Amino acid sequence: MRLVRLFFILVLVSFSSVAANDAIPMGRLPDSVEPRAYRLTLAIDPRQAEFSGATEIDLSLREPARVIWLHGHGLRVSDVVLVTSGRRVKGRYAEVETVSGVARVDFDEEIAAGRAVLRLTHAAPFEKAPQGLYRTDVAGEWYAFSQLEPIDARRVFPGFDEPRFKTPFDVTVVADRRDKVVSNTPLVSKTSERDRVRHRFVVTPPLPTYLVAFAVGPLDIVHGRPVPLSGVRRRLLPLRFVASKGQGKKLAFAARHTGEIVLRLEEYFGSAFPYPKLDLIASPIHGLAMENAGAIVFDDRYLLIGARPSPEQQSIFGGVVAHEIAHQWFGDLVTPVWWDDLWLNESFAQWLGSKISDRWRPGFGTRGDQLAATLKAMDTDALRVGRPMHQRIDDNRQIIGTFDEITYQKGAGVLAMFESYLGEARFRRGVRLHLRRHPHGSATADDFFAAMADAAGEAPVLGAFRSFVDQPGVPFVSAVLSDDRSSLMLRQERYRPLGSAIAPGLLWDLPVCVRALSSADAPRQCVLMTGAAARIDLGAPVGETGMMPNAGGEGYYRFALDATSARSALRDVANLTGAEALALADSIGASFAAGRLPFEEVLHGASALVSHQDRTAATRLGFLLTALHDQLRDAETRERLARRIDGIYAPALRAFGYIPKAGAYAGDTADRQLRRDSLAEIVVVWGRDSEVTGTFASAAQATLGNPEILDRGLRAVAWAAGVRNGDATFCRALQKQLVETADAQVRADAAYALGRVEQEPAASDVRALLLHPRLGPSPVLRILRGQLENPATRASTWNWVRENADALIARLPAYYQPILLRAADRFCDAAERDAVETVFAPRLAKAGMDALPLERQLERISLCIALMSSTENTIKAAVEEGETKRVR
Ligand SMILES: [Zn+2]
Repeated sequence: MRLVRLFFILVLVSFSSVAANDAIPMGRLPDSVEPRAYRLTLAIDPRQAEFSGATEIDLSLREPARVIWLHGHGLRVSDVVLVTSGRRVKGRYAEVETVSGVARVDFDEEIAAGRAVLRLTHAAPFEKAPQGLYRTDVAGEWYAFSQLEPIDARRVFPGFDEPRFKTPFDVTVVADRRDKVVSNTPLVSKTSERDRVRHRFVVTPPLPTYLVAFAVGPLDIVHGRPVPLSGVRRRLLPLRFVASKGQGKKLAFAARHTGEIVLRLEEYFGSAFPYPKLDLIASPIHGLAMENAGAIVFDDRYLLIGARPSPEQQSIFGGVVAHEIAHQWFGDLVTPVWWDDLWLNESFAQWLGSKISDRWRPGFGTRGDQLAATLKAMDTDALRVGRPMHQRIDDNRQIIGTFDEITYQKGAGVLAMFESYLGEARFRRGVRLHLRRHPHGSATADDFFAAMADAAGEAPVLGAFRSFVDQPGVPFVSAVLSDDRSSLMLRQERYRPLGSAIAPGLLWDLPVCVRALSSADAPRQCVLMTGAAARIDLGAPVGETGMMPNAGGEGYYRFALDATSARSALRDVANLTGAEALALADSIGASFAAGRLPFEEVLHGASALVSHQDRTAATRLGFLLTALHDQLRDAETRERLARRIDGIYAPALRAFGYIPKAGAYAGDTADRQLRRDSLAEIVVVWGRDSEVTGTFASAAQATLGNPEILDRGLRAVAWAAGVRNGDATFCRALQKQLVETADAQVRADAAYALGRVEQEPAASDVRALLLHPRLGPSPVLRILRGQLENPATRASTWNWVRENADALIARLPAYYQPILLRAADRFCDAAERDAVETVFAPRLAKAGMDALPLERQLERISLCIALMSSTENTIKAAVEEGETKRVR
């Protein structure tokens, strides 16, 4: 493939610059030198373009050396000295691989084995995108924040930037006297030096470089109530909340509820929060969130949610905050040895974060949201180009691609499946034992499975667990009742969508649970399939009832449905739990995409599920239909499908009511409000229901002066209705709002709505915002995604991307580049696919990303082409027939 070749050419170029026997370590550094402690002094003034630093690293050399390999990315390093046996030896620093930042220090004499201290001074520019140490201005004030994971500590100080090297950090930050400074531990001392202040922090417990953190500027710091003592912690845990100047009052909800989440996590782990304090820091352009030990940085939209956030804001807050705090154990206290085991961080934080958040806010449907994300990740896991959860990494360029939905969402689903199979208590015993064995150290997947085996036993189950961690793909199960309906024949194969080039043959040790749908509480029967086929004896014939081949909905697999089995499961839909209904919806979509189920059965499934008591299950197929809508080539078919979508979901929305005014549904449960929000999005943005859109659009017009007039859960969709029906003035006012507001939720809602602008010249103005320096990556991608999803704006927006690709990529941090590619999710023809490859392949390779995320995206487009070429006619016929029936 062209992409792969290009990637290797770049690698060769970098290698050729040094002698062949002195190869640059492109992945892990040699074992011969080990850092034991850092003393780090950084002068950080965000008003300046650059920062500077002095780094002292205690080293242990296993063997004599003339060269020390380390990391440094874009640093201007001067004064390199190694102190060994009381002597000072000068060294020469050179960054020899400049895409991922590999450097060497050469000495003119041989350094003896043993202890030594390496001292380097350096300066570097602040980053503009949220990576390394970046700066940003808000309302005329400047701030600096850090984002060092995975390999950007090397943009801030020279060092051994690998997760296995955990050492204490003794950090001093010299800052302007107007600024406050936050780092991982509490402050020890502040010393004034003319206009500047030296902030010295308590030496940290052992940390990897990627967890070191800084926030500097005229910050608002809100002291929360310390987290009270718990059964496992005998001192109060100081809790603070940090935001840009004037924003502190919006931290009220976070300040009130974060302690509850800490306590729930301590209870799960049976151990105290591992660091001396906890700060939650809101950065205006961070994009995502980062679990730095004791100093977690969040994009401000997660934290600045005021005192009375909407159910959606609370639900996102709970999920993200619990995820990041869970990392203080999974990742921070026990760190993976290398990035091949990132799943030990992210799968666990995602799984436990959603579990804790669900307990914190029961009734919000968090569990369904997590399961929906896992099911969605199956589409990625079904690609031929892919990776298992545990993947070998030989090169720094492969690292960023592992922060994907396989690691996060498949990982969370696989853990949930084995937790369910082993039982919650046994699974937790294994987790606790693993953490107890490696506190403040690092561990591998083998260590984790050893702890699981010692605590939970059940070798066959752990073997099955490993078969999911070590191999990619989604199992596809078919379940056929025997003629006398007293047993079920199961078969497994790898799930393959239409057009897939995956070779068959992969098998899992697969836990399958089934039950009859005759009642809501029919008992489930489980089997651990260790081959391609298995039989479950149901005891007695099950009669006319349907069967649920994924009882409990927790199995990480899809099941094959034909028209008969789908209809029979849908007949008893009220007997399905939320998770089961969601799994059924997913398998309906998956069976359609695999060419097993006709399109009209997807429509039938959507109609049958829309009234299910679980809100995520009720709208799941609706969102599948919206995606198909955007991928259809024929405009008339698209319009007809939009009317069908409207016909299914608008009556449900009307039953719930759709007044977009704030407070109209204050008495509703969170679940009802969240269901209304999803229904409204489908009905307005895709169904284009004229009555609902009209109501929303006129409500939107009145709100620009005060966005709080609108219900916060409906505001983004109301504004989207406003820009589509509204005039240029409304559109311009919303753009101004987006750029100028300090309210993170208003920014997110405005970005969503502006992504839906269709008319020129407003659409061109909106595209110009994609390079606006004040916007962080998150609103930029919201706008871009909306504009590229919509067939009405796709071509013009794609032309813009081609012309501005360099600037667009340069403004996003590396970890956002795979997310950028997902903006092309609705592309569905060969010319678009080739254009995506031409535009992104050379640029992403140059930016240091390996081929996997782009190759996946190209395969997604190819699969869409295959799906449409074999089903577009049947979709057309099905929606036409629906019209005829309705006319009659
Ligand atoms: Zn995480």
